[in-house]
Amino acid sequence: MSETLFTKIINREISADIVYEDDDCLCFRDINPQAPLHVLLIPKKPIPRAIDATTEDQALLGHLMIKAGEIAKQEGYGEAFRLVVNNGAGAGQTVFHLHIHILGGRPLSWPPG
Ligand code: 5GP
Repeated sequence: MSETLFTKIINREISADIVYEDDDCLCFRDINPQAPLHVLLIPKKPIPRAIDATTEDQALLGHLMIKAGEIAKQEGYGEAFRLVVNNGAGAGQTVFHLHIHILGGRPLSWPPG
């Protein structure tokens, strides 16, 4: 599997505005923000898509969900934020390293586009 640009960000080969990091995940601001808060939370393990996660990744995915809320709160949007995971090109995924978009700071309509 070829390295994605998110692996390059993890390895500091590409710079990013990092807002949180621990042994298992990294969170950085999206280069093309769609809301006042738009950060990407990624596992350091290069799982391509949500559908590619297995039961082996259960604790890791749970960790990401907990951290997503903590980061939204840390950024000042703990009361209203949205988590988005695009799975596959047909759903808008462009970088094939699993990531959670954390969005907040503007009205978020439903259903999403
Ligand atoms: P996807 O469309 O795969 O769900 O989301 C990929 C996201 O990565 C997009 O929102 C896009 O703006 C963001 N992105 C693409 N290239 C870069 C980059 O080099 N740096 C950062 N920080 N974000 C990027």
